[in-house]
Amino acid sequence: MNIYVLKFGGSSVATPERMLNVGRIIEAYYKKGIKVVVVVSAPGKTTDNLIEIAKKINPHPPERELDMLLSTGEQQSIALLALALEKLKVPAISFTGYQVGIITDPNFTKARIRLIQRKKILNELKKGKVVIVAGFQGVTEKGDITTLGRGGSDLTAVALASVLKAKICEIYTDVDGVYSCDPRIVKNAKKIKRITYDEMLELASAGAKVMQSRAMEVAKKFNVLLHIRSSFKRVEGTYVEEEKMALEEVVVRGVTHDENQVKVSIVDVPDVPGIAAYVFGELAKKNINVDMIIQSAARNGKNDISFTIRREDKKIASEIMEKVRKKLKAKEVIFNDDVAKVSIVGIGMRSHSGVAARMFKALARKKINIEMISTSEIKVSCVINRKDVKKAVMELSKEFGLLRRK
Ligand code: ADP
Ligand code: ASP
Ligand code: MG
Repeated sequence: MNIYVLKFGGSSVATPERMLNVGRIIEAYYKKGIKVVVVVSAPGKTTDNLIEIAKKINPHPPERELDMLLSTGEQQSIALLALALEKLKVPAISFTGYQVGIITDPNFTKARIRLIQRKKILNELKKGKVVIVAGFQGVTEKGDITTLGRGGSDLTAVALASVLKAKICEIYTDVDGVYSCDPRIVKNAKKIKRITYDEMLELASAGAKVMQSRAMEVAKKFNVLLHIRSSFKRVEGTYVEEEKMALEEVVVRGVTHDENQVKVSIVDVPDVPGIAAYVFGELAKKNINVDMIIQSAARNGKNDISFTIRREDKKIASEIMEKVRKKLKAKEVIFNDDVAKVSIVGIGMRSHSGVAARMFKALARKKINIEMISTSEIKVSCVINRKDVKKAVMELSKEFGLLRRK
């Protein structure tokens, strides 16, 4: 079957007019005889609004109930889109994640997909229908509703494209492709025509929210051809694909920033084997993702360990770290919210040296202090003060030739 998976993000379905616009985009594929599976996000800011309401009622909502609530946002979108398609005389049927059989683990609010049942979708496609699936949600083997982490509709789309062996997964959003950095911050950022899975994965995990990073992991693993494009402008977007020799030779393809970071430091821990294993083991037990880590040089048999976590994990991390502090008889635990991470990404770094040094020099030129550094084969990230983040993105874009001429 010639299957396409199309995903429409929240802003693309935010109003009745936009929902009808999405209907017309789908209609064009349908008329070409393409079998279409559509994944939709909750309209506009629905998910944020639902979280806000939940927290007004209970500042620490149980995660099972939060997922029950958040999944309703996408359920609205699938029904509304089905109405739009009916109006356009395109036969369609909507399904929740539960109805399709998107089975996940029971890790509420950040569940992982274990398996997707294809039968129902394939049956409806064979009958000539467009199948609309709610993004961001699944169900455990026990029947509890789960969600896949913020931005998780991307993951639903990519995972469906993979199990249905779709020709392509098109991610329709409010920008007309992937840019060298967030076009909302730098107006003359360059649009990227083609990007490799590795680069897009690193950009996503470093904070470019145009694609969810877990969705990128799945796309890379199963080789899902992605096209990220605009639902408002009918222009070609950005293709994400396997690395080819023909890809344009650039050292740095993108600069990205992440303000969703908190720096945690535990001061005066004993400098003996097993301490880091204990600290990070305790955090891992509660599923807290630790990003950057540094350890200071030992003085008098003691040292400090600093690391970054995501903002939403701060409360639970502070409970864990207090326990850890008592156990290790450490002096104190400090949480710093005023940090952000800037990163540069590009496969060209594999074959060019001195790229990190250029990054540090560019930041120094703007008197931006670097608090932490981490590198991978194709990425360099620095933790800096949050107030400097825009300046840093701009300066790094300039340094690596990522700006369009105005
Ligand atoms: P959707 O609701 O469609 O999933 P998102 O808001 O999750 O859309 O992602 C699109 C947004 O990602 C854009 O509006 C843009 O501000 C942001 N973004 C961040 N970095 C980039 C980048 N490098 N290229 C394009 N967009 C980016
Ligand atoms: N509605 C969910 C969110 O806001 C999922 C998504 O938009 O992809 O995170
Ligand atoms: Mg998104």
